[in-house]
Amino acid sequence: MQHRIVVLGAGYTGAVAAGRLARRLHREDVTITLVNPEPDFVERVRMHQLAVGQDLRPRPFGEMFAGTGVELKLAKVTAVDVDRKAVTVAAVNGHGPEELSYDTLVYALGSGWNDGGVPGVAEHAHEVAGRSGALRLRDRLAALDAGRPVVVVGGGLTSLEAVTEIAEARPDLDVALAARGALGDWLSEKGRAHLRKVVDKLGITVHEHTAVDAVEADGVTTADGRSIPAEVTVWTTGFAVHPIAEATTLALTDRGQIVVDTTMRSVSHPDVYAVGDAAMAMGPQDKPLRMSCASGVPMAWQAADAIAARLAGVKVPHVSIRYYQQCISLGRKEGLIQFVTADDRAVDSALTGRGASLYKELVCKGAAWTVANPTAGMPSRRRRVVRQETPGRVPAEAAA
Ligand SMILES: Cc1cc2nc3c(=O)[nH]c(=O)nc-3n(C[C@H](O)[C@H](O)[C@H](O)COP(=O)(O)OP(=O)(O)OC[C@H]3O[C@@H](n4cnc5c(N)ncnc54)[C@H](O)[C@@H]3O)c2cc1C
Repeated sequence: MQHRIVVLGAGYTGAVAAGRLARRLHREDVTITLVNPEPDFVERVRMHQLAVGQDLRPRPFGEMFAGTGVELKLAKVTAVDVDRKAVTVAAVNGHGPEELSYDTLVYALGSGWNDGGVPGVAEHAHEVAGRSGALRLRDRLAALDAGRPVVVVGGGLTSLEAVTEIAEARPDLDVALAARGALGDWLSEKGRAHLRKVVDKLGITVHEHTAVDAVEADGVTTADGRSIPAEVTVWTTGFAVHPIAEATTLALTDRGQIVVDTTMRSVSHPDVYAVGDAAMAMGPQDKPLRMSCASGVPMAWQAADAIAARLAGVKVPHVSIRYYQQCISLGRKEGLIQFVTADDRAVDSALTGRGASLYKELVCKGAAWTVANPTAGMPSRRRRVVRQETPGRVPAEAAA
């Protein structure tokens, strides 16, 4: 009997995990089903570009997975029963719910925007965490007359990319950033100075040390009682995981992420693996990995390699997961590559300007290429499955 592997979500991590599993395991021994509601790959790291009117290259899964043995199921996951090893999906063509049974599950449903429970955000704010939100913002920005105010709330990587992209694409708008801390306060001195220079050049008003505690149709209110006018508010204060895992018996963090070990296997259910934004794994210095492609893609490699090794009855390999840099686009002409320690702290070295912009573009292209060419560049040897059941946690079987 074939071992049934079901991968939920075909974002950066689910698509990479499915492709790598197909490369690692013998086709006669496994079925690999990849469940995703959309037929093409969404480059989430470019949603701020989509929001300002840039068109992204279409990347249909049908082409990517042709001939790999990965079967794409166009459906939306509505429930996961990890005790019965079954996933309920609703087909996107309107057909009724269906149940998929699995022997091994890879959970990679990613994340969406996080309204933080702040009043008015869900009703009035826009987002760039996913394609539908980015397209809605694109329409809204396109409809704005010159001089109208736009505020981006949040001070992290996505906020910086969004606010600079908007200001560069629409120099006629009055663009502001409201950040809880100081602008780029986690960056090196060189990184901060460059960021400030670009932000000033783009004419962005920066409200530092500004917590927003309400959003209305015509602006935001700050915790210290100020009003910042905004015809469009873009809320970029972090991501939230989908609530599907919460309705299971999986061990989760307070944020609803699935707690996994160093091989990306659930600490409560050995036949479930979780990767990417949906999972909480510890990285270097015992710090949780942050939601990112930078750590999500190696998490997917690790999960696929661990599953294949365990099924083949061989030693589980260890994939190094660490950070090297934070790549920040600052519009299309400027960028900032902040080099970091293995556990993601800025070091005193950064690449800036046009070179950084090109570097970032290469990184984005590289990530999409990795997804689009799931079986390229790896040894072609496929292992035979010797164990149909996923073995439970065995202390002696820790990652090599
Ligand atoms: C604007 C922006 C810029 C970013 N820039 C960077 C960057 O420069 N570097 C970096 O490292 N990270 C960046 N990130 C973060 C990065 O995009 C995410 O961390 C990464 O996409 C997580 O990968 P994932 O596979 O876990 O989730 P995703 O890529 O979100 O994929 C999840 C998949 O699951 C599918 N899915 C969701 N719900 C269901 C369901 N119910 N049923 C079936 N399928 C479902 C989705 O359609 C999607 O295909 C950025 C994010 C944004 C929004």
